[in-house]
Amino acid sequence: MDELFFKEKKCLLCGAKFKSGKVKRSKQYMLKRDSDFCIHYRGENPAFYNVYVCPQCGYGFTDNFTPPKEKEIIKIGINPLEVDLCSSRSVEEAIIAYQTALKCALLGKERETIIAGLYLHLAWFNRFLENKDEEMKNLKKALEYYEKAIESDRDLENPATVFYLIGEINRRIGNDKKAVKFFAHIINDKKINDPNIIRMSRERWQEIRAAR
Ligand SMILES: [Zn+2]
Repeated sequence: MDELFFKEKKCLLCGAKFKSGKVKRSKQYMLKRDSDFCIHYRGENPAFYNVYVCPQCGYGFTDNFTPPKEKEIIKIGINPLEVDLCSSRSVEEAIIAYQTALKCALLGKERETIIAGLYLHLAWFNRFLENKDEEMKNLKKALEYYEKAIESDRDLENPATVFYLIGEINRRIGNDKKAVKFFAHIINDKKINDPNIIRMSRERWQEIRAAR
């Protein structure tokens, strides 16, 4: 418990104020990072706490959500949760929190990259539980929304990272050909100049070649 501090949040849906746990920076012990940016920690995982769930109305959101326009549609679709998600969270509770935010993001038509990110985190949390089927299911949904994001005209905040994730998720679900297409695009596109993403794309492409 001593790993957490509490941050005051205001519900974007009903306006209620509540306190939600966050992991103190001094208590974060990173062990390793997977090739799809999933970070493994010893002890508390700060990513478990990126979603806030309002104890009053059950609305789930992150710092990146926009205040919902169609409030009535969301209110009909959600209920206050019976579990307390404002304090220390197990992996299972983090999954419930993210599923709640995902439901609200879908109802509120949030940006595709936000929806994709929630699915990606759900894939990671299921990886921690060694629940391969759920991991794959969520990776595929993340991929679907990252692809929608690049097809829509909206400006992407971080196009290189989105392209990389599309390549990397394709690689993880066994679509090597499509993965290579995206890694090649990152390496050859002069507009992409993120050295980390370019290096990681080369490494993944190399891994696909080596596995053949
Ligand atoms: Zn609320």
